Amino acid sequence: MNIAIDGPAGAGKSTIARLVAKKLDYIYVDTGALYRAIALYFIDNETDVENDEKLREALDDIMINIKYEHGMQHVFLNLVDVSAEIRNEKVGNMASKTSAYQPVREKLLDIQRNIAAENDVIMDGRDIGTNILPNAELKIYLTASVDVRAKRRFDELRERGETPDIEVIKKDIEQRDYQDMNRKIAPLKQAEDAVLLDTSDMSIEEVVDKILELENEVKNKQ
Ligand code: C5P
Repeated sequence: MNIAIDGPAGAGKSTIARLVAKKLDYIYVDTGALYRAIALYFIDNETDVENDEKLREALDDIMINIKYEHGMQHVFLNLVDVSAEIRNEKVGNMASKTSAYQPVREKLLDIQRNIAAENDVIMDGRDIGTNILPNAELKIYLTASVDVRAKRRFDELRERGETPDIEVIKKDIEQRDYQDMNRKIAPLKQAEDAVLLDTSDMSIEEVVDKILELENEVKNKQ
């Protein structure tokens, strides 16, 4: 069984997918982390990503692996666990920029498809239902208004002891939405057969329950 969850930045995909995976005993695959790991390499090595030849050369030097420990995904960049290091805005913004490049997307295609072929997965990203797993048994397009998404991120950062600026967060989200939805290759969009869930006025529990209900319906039909 494969469940695909796509949607814009800050819609709560990872929180929801992690909880659903736990309930169903599926593997949760966070594909954004793969794009982030590649972006981290580009940042650390000051790769000129606008130069196609340099980009391809750098990609040849990159090896990405994922492993699961106690249900938690760990991403390895050239055998180093970078799971924590990739969690910041700088890496996220670089990932959004470089994920638009075909060679970057191609490099990550097999990792994603192989893990879904071998396991029950709930996989989140931007092009899972449209491109990576077009035959997923259940597809969800998870979204929320920009204001709600910005507020959620703001609260998250505050909880971590940071002092974020809500307007900056909002601008960042809007820019990321624009880049992800308007790129030529595998842009973020709702798959035709995906169920749309707007979580602006839903609690985490309500969203999780809804997805469990949908999964149950799919299973009963099989
Ligand atoms: O989800 P996350 O914020 O970690 O993703 C970082 C970036 O990676 C996204 O803004 C998007 O550009 C890219 N991405 C993608 N396709 C995916 C997952 C992430 O293009 N399946």
